[in-house]
Amino acid sequence: MSSFDYDLFVIGGGSGGVRSARLAASMGKKVAIAEEYRFGGTCVIRGCVPKKLFVYASQFHEHFEDAAGFGWSVGESSFDWKKLIAAKDQEIARLEGLYRKGLTNAGAEQIESRAEIAGPNSVRIVKTGKIVTAERIIIAVGGEANYHKSLPGHELCISSNEAFHLEELPRKIVIAGGGYIAVEFANIFHGLGVETTLIYRGKEILSRFDQDVRRGLHQAMEAKGIRILCTDVIEEVSKSDTGALNVRTLNNGVLEADQVMLALGRDPYTKSLGLETAGVAVNARGAIIVDQYSRTNVPSIFALGDVTDRVQLTPVAIHEAMCFIETEYKNNPTSPDHDMIATAVFSQPEIGTVGMSEEEAAKAFAEIEIYKAEFRPMKATLSGRAEKMIMKLIVNAADRKVVGAHILGHDAGEMAQLLGITLKAGCTKDDFDRTMAVHPTAAEELVTMYSPSYRVRGGERV
Ligand code: NDP
Repeated sequence: MSSFDYDLFVIGGGSGGVRSARLAASMGKKVAIAEEYRFGGTCVIRGCVPKKLFVYASQFHEHFEDAAGFGWSVGESSFDWKKLIAAKDQEIARLEGLYRKGLTNAGAEQIESRAEIAGPNSVRIVKTGKIVTAERIIIAVGGEANYHKSLPGHELCISSNEAFHLEELPRKIVIAGGGYIAVEFANIFHGLGVETTLIYRGKEILSRFDQDVRRGLHQAMEAKGIRILCTDVIEEVSKSDTGALNVRTLNNGVLEADQVMLALGRDPYTKSLGLETAGVAVNARGAIIVDQYSRTNVPSIFALGDVTDRVQLTPVAIHEAMCFIETEYKNNPTSPDHDMIATAVFSQPEIGTVGMSEEEAAKAFAEIEIYKAEFRPMKATLSGRAEKMIMKLIVNAADRKVVGAHILGHDAGEMAQLLGITLKAGCTKDDFDRTMAVHPTAAEELVTMYSPSYRVRGGERV
């Protein structure tokens, strides 16, 4: 009989926390999971899931326009922001219910309160002040938006959290940042009819992606009418007498907007979590430092997901949770594998990517081959849309392995998932060449690019 109240106490009911609590409870462990806001975490409640619903909503005006080329006449159309929010909220509530049901069915106790570390084996339930003990503790509290508190007027700005609950759809929005959230929301707002400006400090948006898809997306967004200001930052946000926001920029004067959204990265949500009471070590960004088994420097305390700042993605947090269960409860030490993670940016057009960019591969290997196709997708021929699709494979010339695959265009995220399997399996370009095409698809380009577009040797294009 354990001397602890619980075998496992999980702080944070997001993707990583819920998965570890549910699996441990279903194995007969005595588990509690505390959540201060809503079960489901950032991904389900105010991240990936509602974002994707917004992406769908924002695409309809293009669908209506495209329809004409196929013989359809679409009548008057209009968009109701409040209806979208209500429908989205209903779906999120349903999903939250499913998360809770999964925990209940597995036998995990759900505690609706903030919880903080009170010692190596103890947790304080903030709502009641009660201290409970656990043999193992998992911290899976995720991250929070960077509110950029040094920016004068930051309190007038919103983050993605608020974007999901705006009372009114703004007429004009300025979005700061050039990462996933900034780019996705710029497309969402533009698609819903909002005059949208994106302002990014670097030379090209999406700094960690392949140069061709970055440039291709930038051009496509501008062609749609999204204003993109690179090498610029917001210096101050203030409110005018009319209630409009004035956004003073470094290089582009003053922009006017109804909303300013900051999407400047997310920080680990570790403030006031009581980590110092147990001596849990964090890095300079406040992220919990863990070993290859997600264990902190305190042997009874583990950390999963965004709070560890390894890779801030939902499937990664879930994978880390499953590795924790294998290691701690199935006697099968398993480290999370963070290599070759396929990912998508739900911009319009979408980006799907896995492995190294050309720039990374050029540094890592003596010689690489680049296979690149840029073409107009079939649907665009009748719709008349001027968009281009880009597909790119990066091959290490020495062993012919495909080390990177990058797509810009419709369904790029869906394709990236399957490419992820092939690259993870170590497939070579010859394997791609041997694969029969599926016709007519856009994806067939991936297996029909027989000759390299160019090579990069010693970092130089030849
Ligand atoms: P990102 O890290 O993707 O982007 C942050 C952006 O903010 C970068 O462009 C960065 O510039 C810029 N930035 C950071 N600090 C400053 C500053 N002080 N002044 C000006 N610009 C600044 O973070 P996001 O907030 O977009 O998203 C958070 C995380 O959530 C992502 O890392 C991603 O892992 C995850 N996510 C995943 C999604 C998906 O899978 N589709 C969707 C949404 C989020 P620079 O590049 O120059 O550093």
